[in-house]
Amino acid sequence: MLQQTYLPGRVGISFELFPPKTDEGIDQLMEQVGRLMEFAPDYLTCTYGAGGSTRDKTLDIVTRLKKEFQAPVASHLTIVGTTVDGLRDYLSAARDRGVDAIVALRGDPPKSDPHFRPVDGGFRYANELVALIAAEFPSFGVAVAAYPETHREATSSDDDLRHLKTKVDAGADVVITQLFYDNADFFRFRERYEAAGIRAPLVPGILPVTSLAQINRIASLCGAKLPPAFCDALAAAEGDEERQAAIGIEFATRQVQELLDSDIPGIHFYVLNRSHATSQILRNLDLRATQPLK
Ligand code: FAD
Repeated sequence: MLQQTYLPGRVGISFELFPPKTDEGIDQLMEQVGRLMEFAPDYLTCTYGAGGSTRDKTLDIVTRLKKEFQAPVASHLTIVGTTVDGLRDYLSAARDRGVDAIVALRGDPPKSDPHFRPVDGGFRYANELVALIAAEFPSFGVAVAAYPETHREATSSDDDLRHLKTKVDAGADVVITQLFYDNADFFRFRERYEAAGIRAPLVPGILPVTSLAQINRIASLCGAKLPPAFCDALAAAEGDEERQAAIGIEFATRQVQELLDSDIPGIHFYVLNRSHATSQILRNLDLRATQPLK
């Protein structure tokens, strides 16, 4: 499924969602995704909460998305707090429910203990999960994560890239990046990625920011650099939510247009369970997954 998504001459589109806490939230999510279906995404993904906290919910959501929208789906899966047998159980259940692909991740450690510690009988790095899937669950497509601004725990950017290559070589079909706001970081990273001989499609992850509060939260969560002019424009619109959203959508539209002009294989939108910003950006760009690049 993932190989067909990123064929030359087209732009693969994927939407990332997260599992809502309540039944009402799940109904709202389905409504929002219904609106996004007009853009014919190639696949929908659902995150896997820190420490495996949303294990069953993630599986329920991807199953329901597939059934309601007949869209291919990918479940995120992390190795945090789980033994290899626990991972096997999840992968078997996902296969039985018709999940098409896995976004294979290490996961972040819980806030209470910022150092990742593998459990007894568990894995240490995401490349081991990729290898498990390739060996025992070969029907899944596999996506993995990459960091244009370097993973925050990496010993160096070169080490980080070397580890990414190991992860891709273990059996990943596609690499999706962490969100970023300066395309120059992505372009520099892509040059190094290609020079390292990594051949899997490299798909930028885009998180449209629609408020000042959100941008501050994002920066502290994942350490992404934020363009000062963009932050200043949002700050100047403080108190005017509509204006802030419009500024964020305009920024993301320009960011994605520049990426499209540079020949990317696809775009992964961090939708945050709300359709408005992503829909508006795709409409501004007149882009649907089924359309070839203009
Ligand atoms: P890894 O690839 O294992 O890398 C982790 C660190 O270890 C890096 O610093 C790397 O350089 C180093 N490393 C890797 N392999 C080796 C090795 N063999 N030897 C020595 N060092 C090594 N988190 C969630 O909890 N749930 C989600 O659903 C989720 N979805 C995500 C989706 C995307 C697209 C992205 C970009 C991130 C997502 N994350 C999610 C966050 C991710 O789990 C964290 O960024 C985590 O800290 C690293 O995960 P990884 O899979 O990149 O880890």
